[in-house]
Amino acid sequence: MDSFECQSCGHLEPVESRSRVYEPGYSDEVSPTSRIGWCHDCSKVVQIEYVPSMQELEEEMERIKKEASLPFKDPERQKLFNQRRFAYLAPSWALITMAEYIRWRTARKNPSRCFGCGSYRITLAEVSDEHPFGVISCPKCSGRMLAKVELVIGSDRYDPDVYSFEGDLLKKGNGLISIRTRWVLPP
Ligand SMILES: [Zn+2]
Ligand SMILES: [Zn+2]
Repeated sequence: MDSFECQSCGHLEPVESRSRVYEPGYSDEVSPTSRIGWCHDCSKVVQIEYVPSMQELEEEMERIKKEASLPFKDPERQKLFNQRRFAYLAPSWALITMAEYIRWRTARKNPSRCFGCGSYRITLAEVSDEHPFGVISCPKCSGRMLAKVELVIGSDRYDPDVYSFEGDLLKKGNGLISIRTRWVLPP
């Protein structure tokens, strides 16, 4: 995804997708969660370091436990898997990852913040099943801005940006996620 487009006036807001990791300290599976939003200090659409609530993490853990308890052919398993937001490995591994996320979240003090400038003055996009990247209010006309989705294929990774567990940028990488082919999905 490289931009948000206003459905009313056509205004485009580019969004820079970068690869990011936390400093060493927890399992490597614990990585910064990115959400789209508006930064009131950058005055633009940005990727935000999303700090989930403990409840969100605990709910995901419960869903993974339920998934693990179901027979492999049960279609409910796939539904539960599709609701995962933090851990994507097989359930036994995912539960270990979630325990690490909960350990990190227990210690984490700062709320969600802008990856770019570190500001807490942010408005997260409203995310729904219909609009998984979220809906943003257009800065020009207050219309609805939606993501122009691009699938980025390839894995020419990467030298990621490294953040502290409180969301401070420690080291800026080249940020490349991929330099390979892009397919723009039809609307
Ligand atoms: Zn607009
Ligand atoms: Zn900012």
